[in-house]
Amino acid sequence: MYPNILRHPGPTPIPKKVQLAMNHDMISHRTEEFVRLYQETTNRVKTVFGTAQEILLLPSGGTAALEAAAVNTVSPGEEVVVITVGAFGNYFVSICEKYGFNVHKLEKNWGEACTEEDLSEFLKPLSNIKAVFATYNETSTGILNPIEKLAKVVRTHTDALFIVDGVSCLGGAPAEMDQWGIDILVTGSQKAMMLPPGLALLSVSDRAWNVIEKTTKPAYYLDLLSYREWASKGMTPNTPAISLIFGLSAVCDLIDEEGGFSQTIARHELMKNMVRASMKALSIGLLTADEYASPTITAVYAPDGVEASTFIGHLKEKYHLDFAGGLGHLQGKIFRFGHMGYCFPSDILQAVSLIEAGLQDFSYSFKPGAGIAAAQNVFLAAQRK
Ligand SMILES: *Cc1c(COP(=O)(O)O)cnc(C)c1O
Repeated sequence: MYPNILRHPGPTPIPKKVQLAMNHDMISHRTEEFVRLYQETTNRVKTVFGTAQEILLLPSGGTAALEAAAVNTVSPGEEVVVITVGAFGNYFVSICEKYGFNVHKLEKNWGEACTEEDLSEFLKPLSNIKAVFATYNETSTGILNPIEKLAKVVRTHTDALFIVDGVSCLGGAPAEMDQWGIDILVTGSQKAMMLPPGLALLSVSDRAWNVIEKTTKPAYYLDLLSYREWASKGMTPNTPAISLIFGLSAVCDLIDEEGGFSQTIARHELMKNMVRASMKALSIGLLTADEYASPTITAVYAPDGVEASTFIGHLKEKYHLDFAGGLGHLQGKIFRFGHMGYCFPSDILQAVSLIEAGLQDFSYSFKPGAGIAAAQNVFLAAQRK
């Protein structure tokens, strides 16, 4: 009866307008109507990527697009650097190892970011690096890596391609793929893009296309050259996720309605600040420093004396507030508060209020209302600007 308040870092709530758009009568993907939908929609999504390149659509999860980025650009035995600051960075390591690349792993502690100094030091002794892989937003810890700066380091020190996993932040964080010098940028539908799972989006620079054209790839379904060839006709090589593309078109409408993508980014920044201020006011620890804090997900330590999974279970059962737990060694220590996509300052006020109710249930010592007031103050200050 009570609606579940989904505050996971993906999948995320779907706007009604997007749901309705996905109810569109099914159409064939080899029709004029599809070509119009595909071309219009992919053109409109370019602002989210900050690119003039084509946006390619795969009927898959984000992982398939990450795998496509790897297998299309690098051959077995070639040298790559993978930056990993958490569980999702480690997936990129696994993909590269699976394909037999020679992986140099730049690993940071969970909760830390990779800085430009870290990367330039790491690259110094290395040579012949074909590609550098990085996670823009590490979903397991709520770290937003300084991707623009890292791109610059890659450009300065190497001829490598810079391949970026933007799955859990594109749509909620700034991205200027062309200007920053990102060669392949990947995202998925079910995080900040306000869609159900099942659609991956990626864009490829001219530099990367040159490499892809020369790479012998053990890939058929994930061969990006065939996606490019079909995209030039406004289509995809195989049957696309047609309903999700109707939904994506509605997502573009919503971004326009918000006043443009810069407003969408500003809303995510505001929600991040509200969440962080409220937890600080409640003396609840945050995993990450403010400087590298994600605009889409915040990792919060369990309140003193409470086990994280117990707290998460309680909030879900009693208040229908649904948070994700920690991954790996952070399981039982943190909860992950997703604030991406179809999520608003009002949702943050609601969630913080219910967190406070849960804290009272656990007899946690705090001044009731302190977290709500802190979040509200951040909200009001932004309204006055
Ligand atoms: C969710 C996520 C993925 C995996 O996406 P799937 O759609 O589950 O395949 C990859 N990278 C990051 C950073 C993610 O948050």
